[in-house]
Amino acid sequence: MDSASPSSVSPTKQEDDHVTSITEEHETTCWGCGLRLIISPYAPIFKCGWCGAITNHNARKYDNKYFWLRRLRDRCFVVILLLFMLFIIGSGVWAIYPTIFSTGYFYGIFHMTVTGILSIATLSTYVLASSRSPGAPPRIYWGSYPAMGRNGLMDYTFCNVCSNPKSPNTHHCRSCGMCVLDMDHHCPFIGNCVGAGNHRSFILFLMSAVTSTFYVSIISANILYQIWPPLRHIPSVTLTWSTIFTYLAESALPFLISVESLSIRGFLLIYLFFASVSVEIGLAVLLWQQICFIYEGKTYLSSLSSNSNGNDEVEEKDCQNIVRFFGCSNPATRYLLSFWNFKKSHKK
Ligand SMILES: [Zn+2]
Ligand SMILES: [Zn+2]
Ligand SMILES: [Zn+2]
Repeated sequence: MDSASPSSVSPTKQEDDHVTSITEEHETTCWGCGLRLIISPYAPIFKCGWCGAITNHNARKYDNKYFWLRRLRDRCFVVILLLFMLFIIGSGVWAIYPTIFSTGYFYGIFHMTVTGILSIATLSTYVLASSRSPGAPPRIYWGSYPAMGRNGLMDYTFCNVCSNPKSPNTHHCRSCGMCVLDMDHHCPFIGNCVGAGNHRSFILFLMSAVTSTFYVSIISANILYQIWPPLRHIPSVTLTWSTIFTYLAESALPFLISVESLSIRGFLLIYLFFASVSVEIGLAVLLWQQICFIYEGKTYLSSLSSNSNGNDEVEEKDCQNIVRFFGCSNPATRYLLSFWNFKKSHKK
């Protein structure tokens, strides 16, 4: 055994003799390597000097009582959201296509193709992100000193529910009932955790959802403009900065009257426009935040813990993090990124 083994660990006979002289309450066993540790009294959290595992006597004991209820809630939400997406696609096609095909046959075919691609991309990435396992941590040997090498469990904690070690980036999710490797957060919209196993599908879903909602907002605004009933009493004010308020006030009433003669398709388009714009803003903010975390080599949860510990520069900010995340091994991307990094290092 390593001669530099710390004083808190008692692997040798000599140290074992030393242990016996200390009262029972000062002595405990490391869950990671099984060695006896001598700790000061009233120290509920301590780190093993040999394997690096952290033992926390105050660790919360989760009750798994309502696990099935949380799972059911998540699954119901996924079904509701899937139905909502199908409703948006179906009603969008019904409201938009008559006008699009009346403009031109090829124009209609073009938009049909775009709608098809965006719908398939959004629905498939959504199903993948919500049904894929978020990624369980790999099973590792623990609990015996000869098998567990020095620092073999550095900063690992123990999950009382799964009865398995957790690496620093692994967290237990009560809704999923499992430990999740590189857990980002539990997303109620996909009814699943976002972790090492489905993070890429989640980002691809956000990307296709933002693109789809952007497309829906543009196309519904455009069709609305085309089918809006003409205003009967157009105000005859010449538009300048001083008359703009008079113009708006005078056109408000004719505008409201024109809404009356708007078709059911028109009302649906108004709904589609506002729904897609609001969803698009929310998802775009989330996507931007996620891309920033990937660029910084972090997850949402690890950024929270690094902020609370005060060490912000744990991982290096690098575009390679994004490439690694998406698994692009294309030589062209590698060349472009090395060029970008070369420029960056010369600017410093
Ligand atoms: Zn240990
Ligand atoms: Zn667990
Ligand atoms: Zn979860």
